Amino acid sequence: MGSPSFYRMEMITISIYFDNSATTAVLPAAAETALRYMTDFYFNPAAAYSASVNAERDVSAARAVIAAGMNADPGEVIFTSCGTESNNTALFGSLRAMHGRGRVVISGTEHPSVYEAAMDLKEQGYDVQLAPVDETGRVKLPELAELLTRDTRLVSCMHVNNESGAINDINSVYALVRRNAPDALLHVDGVQAYMKVPPVKCDLYSVSGHKLHAPKGVGALYVRRGVRIKPFLLGGGQEGGMRSGTTNTPAIMGFAAAVSDFAEHREEYLANILAVKTRLFEDLSRIRDVRLNGPALSEAAPHILNMSFMGVRGEVLLNALSEKGLYVSTGSACAAHKRGKNRILNAMGITGDRQDGAIRFSFSHFNTAAEADTAAQMIEEQVALLRRFRRR
Ligand code: PLP
Repeated sequence: MGSPSFYRMEMITISIYFDNSATTAVLPAAAETALRYMTDFYFNPAAAYSASVNAERDVSAARAVIAAGMNADPGEVIFTSCGTESNNTALFGSLRAMHGRGRVVISGTEHPSVYEAAMDLKEQGYDVQLAPVDETGRVKLPELAELLTRDTRLVSCMHVNNESGAINDINSVYALVRRNAPDALLHVDGVQAYMKVPPVKCDLYSVSGHKLHAPKGVGALYVRRGVRIKPFLLGGGQEGGMRSGTTNTPAIMGFAAAVSDFAEHREEYLANILAVKTRLFEDLSRIRDVRLNGPALSEAAPHILNMSFMGVRGEVLLNALSEKGLYVSTGSACAAHKRGKNRILNAMGITGDRQDGAIRFSFSHFNTAAEADTAAQMIEEQVALLRRFRRR
């Protein structure tokens, strides 16, 4: 019997996948775990019979695994559907629990799930300010300090930037917030950082499963004990009343399986990821007129590399490469079609030809150095071809 047409998928041959910041392949053990909780242990953890009590116990164990990756207590972690929901809950939920309006400060390179939420807050009457970043994409601490006023309610500063791999010094940001804006909460979007860079101190921290080889449809939010969230999903009172809705047990268990695996092999995986990135960087550096966007490799997150190929349009290169089975990104999908509209690179002062020619590569431990060599060769050929066309 054939598959029903609504889920028949075209078979696409991907030979090299360097877009792991967009999403990752699900770890087979995570998929198997999720499957078991869909087929055998499908019970609603909120029900009263023993099978449900077991499901609830398993979700608690998963919460402990995911919390450990954030250096948090399990009781401080709630499950959500994705990083976007975690970020929206952090911003809207925490502000809704406070009285009156005030200032909200976000870094100038936040993901749309923070940036657009902040723009909505601006419409609601909050005084929203963007903290500038340096040319490597890191928030400038003295400028941030200036923006932190006594009426600041919330600061949101991402841990690792999804386009440049820049790592913000969150512990210093937290110290500044405590000193200059003592009533403010610090939210950190940790979607690209979780398990890949060491945990930090803050009040709210967002993570997402599908960036770390878990199934899509699950995220988590650390809510420091004592921080109040006014939920926007009301109902059965799951997740300590902060996020109602039947617990997504399969995805949560799959998430925990993926995190356990990463935690167990962390050093080996990170060394592998960094080796692939370094190899690709070295290979690509041999092409003339390329630029590194973001911090030096030793200072960036291990899995993200952003480089510009001068004289080439990034999306044209991306399409040419995808036809050959190499999957990369121009960084910001929403800005892909508009010249000069990459908000993140603009904030870093990367404009014009350099912005147009930017490509983001992002890696997982499934990648190899041989893939980096093959990819570099494909890129070199395509860049030469596109530059020749451009000159005509
Ligand atoms: N924050 C960052 C930094 C991201 O890179 C992403 C996804 O690309 C998100 C948030 C959103 O996460 P999700 O796709 O789980 O909604």
